[in-house]
Amino acid sequence: MSYDPNNVFARILRGEIPCERLYEDSFAIAFADISPQAPVHVLVIPKGSYVSMADFSARADDAEIAGFFKAVGEVARRLDLEAGGYRMLANHGADAGQEVPHFHVHLFAGRPLGRMVAKE
Ligand code: AMP
Repeated sequence: MSYDPNNVFARILRGEIPCERLYEDSFAIAFADISPQAPVHVLVIPKGSYVSMADFSARADDAEIAGFFKAVGEVARRLDLEAGGYRMLANHGADAGQEVPHFHVHLFAGRPLGRMVAKE
């Protein structure tokens, strides 16, 4: 799947769509999910153009991959999520229900999060 430069997160990265920005460094930005599924629901996205985890892991260089995952951990630390616990999740493709074709990690926290995967 080729990268769609007009997907909503690409537009957020270009500043064309507003977001509640919580963190930024040279590799990633983090912002609040517009439709939160938990008291804390944050999205962390790489600045590079990658469709999903599959694309990111195949094409990003080592510095981008390390920088991105360090940013995810840093966001969780800055938002004080470590003591209570948090879940990170990335959807790839149809069965996972990926909606936005720019790689992103969800961070959920703020309550017990239940089963890892829905039963049905
Ligand atoms: P996924 O299903 O993993 O692709 O998740 C996409 C997420 O992006 C969903 O949780 C949406 O609520 C969220 N989302 C979509 N548009 C926006 C937006 N403009 N600002 C913040 N979050 C968004």
